[in-house]
Amino acid sequence: MLLELQGGIIYGPVHSRRLGLSLGVNVLPSHVKYCALDCLYCQYGWTGAHGLEPAPAELPPVEKILDALKNALLRVHAHPAYVTFSGNGEPTLHPDFPEIVEGVRELRDRHSPGSRVAVLSNSTTVSDERVRGALARLDLRVMKLDAGTEETFIRFNRPCAGVSYANVVDGLAKLADVTIQALFAGGAAGNAAPDHVDAWVETLRRIAPAMVQIYSLDRGYPSREIEQIPQRDLVAIARKLDAAGLRASVY
Ligand code: SF4
Repeated sequence: MLLELQGGIIYGPVHSRRLGLSLGVNVLPSHVKYCALDCLYCQYGWTGAHGLEPAPAELPPVEKILDALKNALLRVHAHPAYVTFSGNGEPTLHPDFPEIVEGVRELRDRHSPGSRVAVLSNSTTVSDERVRGALARLDLRVMKLDAGTEETFIRFNRPCAGVSYANVVDGLAKLADVTIQALFAGGAAGNAAPDHVDAWVETLRRIAPAMVQIYSLDRGYPSREIEQIPQRDLVAIARKLDAAGLRASVY
């Protein structure tokens, strides 16, 4: 079953497998997915409004986002381990993402100093210096890279026009202390064939992430051409990362 899109700015706190107690901040419109990718495995289903430049009128303004977060932080019973930019697509597509990051950091310092600020990003804007500067101000950057080649990126992640695999990899290589997150799937359109995994590991050596998180399908997804891979295959991929000198966690 597919997940419902978020209906507002703040959601949770939710218990995340990777982050623990996490308060979600959705800076994108409610009930609409804005994303520059259309991944075969997206838990929200196929991307409708597909593009790098969503209509600004539909996006919540900075003050509204910060007000919503402030109210949530004053209301929560237990302070979250993370305040996490995530939600209905790609948070860095909000044109005021750098200002939002600064505001969220200030609110965290004032109202929840023990929390860390994280982003779950699909990496499609990481070649933009302004976005990269904002990402660097966060405590944790979890950046998607499932593909080791442009051909796999196009088939598996289905980028919109204007998103280039080479730019994504270049941008990630310029970002320090990055956590790479990758989903592996089998099936006719999957990305788990050994030669593809080898190419992906080679790409990651260039990016030199601090950590790599790998997992397979465990929720609903729209494509009929992919399937879950067993845990032992994920462990084999983690061994390849280990042999390349990269730290990996299997989820
Ligand atoms: S990047 Fe995330 S939100 Fe966008 S299509 Fe892929 S899985 Fe869905």
